[in-house]
Amino acid sequence: MKRSTSNQEVKKLNRNRVFRYVNSREETSMPEISAALSISGPTVLKIVNELKEEKLIREVGEFESTGGRKAKAIAAVRDVKYAIGLDITKNHVGIVYTDLSGKALKHERVRKPFKYTQTYLHEVAAIVRRFVEESRIPKKRILGMGISVPAIIDVQRDYITNSHALGIYDVPCEELTACMPYPCELLNDANAAAITESNRSRTCSNLVYLFLSNTVGGAIIFGNETGIVRTAQEKDRGSVYMYKGNNWRSGEFGHMVIHPEGKRCYCGKIGCLDAYCSALRLADQTDGDLERFFREMEAGNQDLKKIWNEYLKDLAIAVDNLRMCFDCEIVLGGYVGSSMEPYIQEFRNLVAEKDIFENSGDYVYVCQYQQEASALGAAIFQIEKFIDTI
Ligand SMILES: [Zn+2]
Repeated sequence: MKRSTSNQEVKKLNRNRVFRYVNSREETSMPEISAALSISGPTVLKIVNELKEEKLIREVGEFESTGGRKAKAIAAVRDVKYAIGLDITKNHVGIVYTDLSGKALKHERVRKPFKYTQTYLHEVAAIVRRFVEESRIPKKRILGMGISVPAIIDVQRDYITNSHALGIYDVPCEELTACMPYPCELLNDANAAAITESNRSRTCSNLVYLFLSNTVGGAIIFGNETGIVRTAQEKDRGSVYMYKGNNWRSGEFGHMVIHPEGKRCYCGKIGCLDAYCSALRLADQTDGDLERFFREMEAGNQDLKKIWNEYLKDLAIAVDNLRMCFDCEIVLGGYVGSSMEPYIQEFRNLVAEKDIFENSGDYVYVCQYQQEASALGAAIFQIEKFIDTI
């Protein structure tokens, strides 16, 4: 039997496309929407009126006339909903909130060593309540919250299967979410940071996110530009897809072997990338303080410079391997990625030496969002789910 998209589905899809387009701009006009999305003027007018009635879009003035009637300027009502994002790490809790813009409206980081106890979880819930009060977020408009954790999460069973960093294994997600003040979902930290990066670029391109924090992880995002065959409608929607794998373990780049005769990784294997490129390799040189590592290296500490050069060489092996696997942009995130800006050209040169196709390292980037990227991604995840329903 031939499957055809019903009229109803097309209407719903167009409505969502119009809202996403308006939300992606500070302001726009109906002729602009019509031209950008190839939807007829009367249909755009009908959708915009519906969205205005539902208080999701508002008029914000008029554009200068280029002859004829002035076009009305419209914008998304972004404060219609909010979401909270948390990032739980071994020693800290990061917290942010956002609205439909997907931007961090406020962020905070609190030192709070993780303990798998009810006391710890209730204290984290109290941090969320205080943050909401202090930020004066209207509670009725809070959709929910996302919690980023350094863990592999089995979404189907709703279990944390493995978290080396937090020292918990095979724990129901509910144990961590039950006492939170809002509906809540857990996300892997690298996946959450990749959501932020992909949302921020809004180019919907394929990307691999390499997360260089106290452990090394990553995420694989399929955009909708090239490389994947999609139907025309899917292509227009502007959504991106994350590849999760058969066991929710995709993007565990930290356990790719880069030196088979090398150092032992915490997982037990020899020569994993994690043993060479986790932020700890650097921070351990300066009492766990990564910023101090870079400061002292810049001040001329040659021992640290040597370690940094080795770090970059090892990282280049991994990045080249990822480029060979995925043939797309590679974004360096996490604690180290966020500090890479001053060194990115030097690193691109190292990678270029390995590139057999183009002799270029131009495909490597430093993450655009460097503070609380994982917490923000966990919040954006909730916002995106809401936008999907529009
Ligand atoms: Zn390993």
